[in-house]
Amino acid sequence: VVVAVMTKKDEQPVVDKVVNRISSEEIEENIKYFAKEPHPAGGQRNLDLGAEVKKRWESYGFDEVFNNDYEVLLSLPTEESYIKYNGTDGEILYKPQNNDKSNIIPPFNAFSKNARVKGQVVYVNYGRVEDLEKLVQLGVDLHDKIAICRYGKIFRGSKAQNAHEKGMIGMILYSDPADSGSKRGKVYPEGQWLPDTGVQRGNVKSVKGDISTHLYPSYGSNLAEGGYHARGEELAKIAPKIPVIPIPYNDVKGIHQLIDVSTPETPDGWGNYRIGPSNAAIELNVKNNDTLARCRNIIGVINGKVEPDRYVLIGVHRDAWIHGAVDPVSGMSTILEISRALADDLKKGWRPRRTIIFASWDAEEPGIMGSFEFVEDFMVNLKHKAVAYINMDSAAGGTQMLKMKSTPNMISLLYKAASETDSPKLPYKNMYDFWIGTEKEYNDKDYELPLVQLIGSGSDYTAFLQEVGVSCVDFAYKSNYGTYPTYHTQYDTYEWLSTFGDQNFTYHKYLGDFAARTLLSLADDEILPLSAVDYASKIKELTTSLIEDNKSEIDDLNLDMSGMSTLTEEFVTAAKEFHEHVSTYSKDDDESGLALRNINDKLMLMDRQFIHEQGLPGRPSFRHLIFAPSSTNTYAESAFPGIGDEMKQAQGDPKATQKQIGLITAKLEAVTRSISNEV
Ligand code: GLU
Ligand code: ZN
Ligand code: ZN
Repeated sequence: VVVAVMTKKDEQPVVDKVVNRISSEEIEENIKYFAKEPHPAGGQRNLDLGAEVKKRWESYGFDEVFNNDYEVLLSLPTEESYIKYNGTDGEILYKPQNNDKSNIIPPFNAFSKNARVKGQVVYVNYGRVEDLEKLVQLGVDLHDKIAICRYGKIFRGSKAQNAHEKGMIGMILYSDPADSGSKRGKVYPEGQWLPDTGVQRGNVKSVKGDISTHLYPSYGSNLAEGGYHARGEELAKIAPKIPVIPIPYNDVKGIHQLIDVSTPETPDGWGNYRIGPSNAAIELNVKNNDTLARCRNIIGVINGKVEPDRYVLIGVHRDAWIHGAVDPVSGMSTILEISRALADDLKKGWRPRRTIIFASWDAEEPGIMGSFEFVEDFMVNLKHKAVAYINMDSAAGGTQMLKMKSTPNMISLLYKAASETDSPKLPYKNMYDFWIGTEKEYNDKDYELPLVQLIGSGSDYTAFLQEVGVSCVDFAYKSNYGTYPTYHTQYDTYEWLSTFGDQNFTYHKYLGDFAARTLLSLADDEILPLSAVDYASKIKELTTSLIEDNKSEIDDLNLDMSGMSTLTEEFVTAAKEFHEHVSTYSKDDDESGLALRNINDKLMLMDRQFIHEQGLPGRPSFRHLIFAPSSTNTYAESAFPGIGDEMKQAQGDPKATQKQIGLITAKLEAVTRSISNEV
């Protein structure tokens, strides 16, 4: 009996052993260590932390760990930026405080245009397209004006781009105390909210990756490495077009007060501000320094035993604007803990079926660079071998709800992993329950199934999905009100997180459990846990909404959607048949393992089928025809982005839109064919 029990214990699946080992105390220790000092991209501290990651992975028994180096263009602040009153005395309205004794990077927006502009100011709310259109509707002239814009709702770089497209010439960004600061409650350190002196840093470029080596890897520019970097006019073509500066609420108040006109009336929900334009003009000068710097990803490889040539990747960035306890250290510490939890089994000789690749990306904050350069460098390998990429950035900036974003083929896997994972909060009995239940609790949404969002951009999965077509997932616990208050500020520290965030680090622990289950299922299941049916059904649903939401445009342009609609149906049918066929698979009839490889390849290549090498109109690095970052908010996704974008600009000419419909139709035909045929 004893022997039987022992054998049983010994046979506990690796995934359960790993989950049991994942410890909230260890995660907390990691966070303390990695968030102790500021560690932005380009600095020594971030290289040192990279060396620490490398050392740990080596000590855990990984098969290969290496530095993966690039040289990328960074944009750093100078002391020359300012905002002045453009009157006779030219009074200084704002100058970044220089923290000379500390190593905290002064507030700035990386890749702002370096320029000095003069103009009247207009308040533009969140800088969304609908905000700007509202202003135009109200008769506000935006041309040659400088925008005062609050942070939130959309990617800050998209705010700048949207304003530029409406003729505005500069932008001042700030965090509204009503969103994340003193108007919500006590400010840090007494409370969790952002002080009126706090400033969110962040890049403002719309093109992702190193913009000095757009679409190819950033090798060093010295002769030995042979890389070419665009500068001057070539660079200016894809760089942001207007100067942008982030300033504290305390300093923006005076600039808001320059708006002395009371018409038009402030729209509902825009806060207690006047719109403008102001009578007075200001002068905005932004001067950042462009410099090439070392970008060092750390890559750790665990070789697969059965299919070493199939990769499951999991990663997170390492660089932070300042301490980055939440962004990215919370996610990074949890991923490191998963890798530690694998060590015992690795040392005993266990290997997953497929190769697992852990990645610690550099230079995400200045513009998702490390992961983009890696993807561009290893493109052919990834195209042929990558099964999926798992991203876990800020793991628990809030603890009220769950954010899940993925390509649709992952949905069933996420449901399964969540139902096997504990819930950090009662009365929810597991993570699945928490996920669906908190939607009811906070948003009063009664979903039949938990919400999985489509995946746009905002972190390191972007290049995997958009340049190569690797299926991706990104998850985190999140607040019920928006981005956590100390995001990209000097207050994103261990003290903040352990006092006002995940105090016992149990949310981290359970997200780690969930990630480990997802990872090991992808790496170890004989048949890949990816669903063609879920993909096809989602595309069908999106096609239906596309047609319903754009009835008048489709009519006006006389667009032919019939092929796309038919093929969507065919894809659903073929996907169902394919999975029926998969369910009859038996190892006994597959001595060579080639039938299994054939099934898995079809599942692995599903997202690859949607890649159009030339990319979307005007956006060559976004190549996925079904999902892309939205052109007006790169944090969000847009479904059938080519159709939507072309339709908006069609002005009566259907050709460009019909072309996008045609491209998608051909992809649907190809993906259906791929799962319908024997080989
Ligand atoms: N995650 C970073 C941010 O939100 C970078 C995102 C991007 O460059 O698109 O600022
Ligand atoms: Zn991040
Ligand atoms: Zn960030």
